[in-house]
Amino acid sequence: MYSQLYFDYNATTPCTKQVVEAMLPYFQEHFGNPSSSHHPYGWLAKSAVEDATTKISKLLGVSPSDLIYTSGSTESINMVLKGVCRKQRNKGNHIITTKAEHKAVLDTCAFLEDDGFDVTYLDVGSDGLIRIEEFEERLRSETVLVSIMYANNETGVLQPLEEIASLTHKNQSLLFSDTTQALGKVHLDKVLQLVDFACFSGHKVYGPKGIGLTYIKGNGEYDQLPSLIQGGGQQKRQRGGTINTPLIVGLAKAVELAYRNLDEDTLRIRSLRDQLEAGLLNIELSVSNSRTPERLPNTVNVSFPYVDGANLLTALSPQIAVSNGSACNSASVEPSHVLLAMGVNRSLAYASLRLSIGKHTTSDDVERAIEIISSEVLKQRESNILWERR
Ligand code: PLP
Repeated sequence: MYSQLYFDYNATTPCTKQVVEAMLPYFQEHFGNPSSSHHPYGWLAKSAVEDATTKISKLLGVSPSDLIYTSGSTESINMVLKGVCRKQRNKGNHIITTKAEHKAVLDTCAFLEDDGFDVTYLDVGSDGLIRIEEFEERLRSETVLVSIMYANNETGVLQPLEEIASLTHKNQSLLFSDTTQALGKVHLDKVLQLVDFACFSGHKVYGPKGIGLTYIKGNGEYDQLPSLIQGGGQQKRQRGGTINTPLIVGLAKAVELAYRNLDEDTLRIRSLRDQLEAGLLNIELSVSNSRTPERLPNTVNVSFPYVDGANLLTALSPQIAVSNGSACNSASVEPSHVLLAMGVNRSLAYASLRLSIGKHTTSDDVERAIEIISSEVLKQRESNILWERR
């Protein structure tokens, strides 16, 4: 259908055939509502949802009761941030997050600011990491929530959650971490032990769009997080609305497949990433924006000085699907807020590409991508007077 190379797996992934096959019976044959408790249609759907939840919880190393299905990470982020703030208002009105978060977090924080919360946006260094000393200094007795992502969607940088969790909990604050990009790319059991809340989207792991999860540690043991969506009393009254059996079955299948060969897939993908990164860094003056040892195995982010970012993307678009930031920001003509937060200057941030590798990427794809990008960068520079005068 497309002649393009696909290097945008962090934006979304194709739904795996086995996932689609697992879902199909639940659209027609087993169409019951899991909340219909008086007939076998409902019982069968309920049991499919319970099996899916058990499977996912085992793979993630958490309790099934700690998982609430949502439409995806954006909803989960809204649920956690707004829910915690609403619930803890008596304790304080301060949130700490970072300038490099996904817009789903930043926009929810802006909403909470309008609602009277005080939000501290931590800087990140040129390596994309927060400075732990600065974080420690910014914690206050009124800090109710810390929201720091684990894996950055644009650079793949992994934040040091162990230290962050220890300081957050010492301060008796709660910790939410956006783990959307980490699922299926790195092991998460340790991370989920450290945080109080996390979030996932099915479509990032070769599952369907429109389904995700909120992880709430100890859900039910303590007072529950208030629901973002009222109605129907489903999911322990924490998320109203008919439970989406087919998508939940699909999500469980996708997570199962992601974990089946996680270590081998990671090794293969990491080696492709290194091949891609090395090839792009062979382009004169190019710089990597993803330099930490702890990072996702699939993400490459490189800036090309003396190149107009918009022209580069336009020239590449018929040949290769890449991005210059988060897919959710693609309507924006602004340079990546993540790179700006890292101190990359505007024109260089604009002339940057994020390439993300996935299950279907081959070494040949990588070689072709390097060739295409190298030749386009060269072309762009040839028409740039500053390049001649450099
Ligand atoms: N958080 C991160 C880090 C993401 O990469 C994304 C999607 O790109 C989201 C949150 C939002 O996920 P969704 O659009 O599936 O709700």
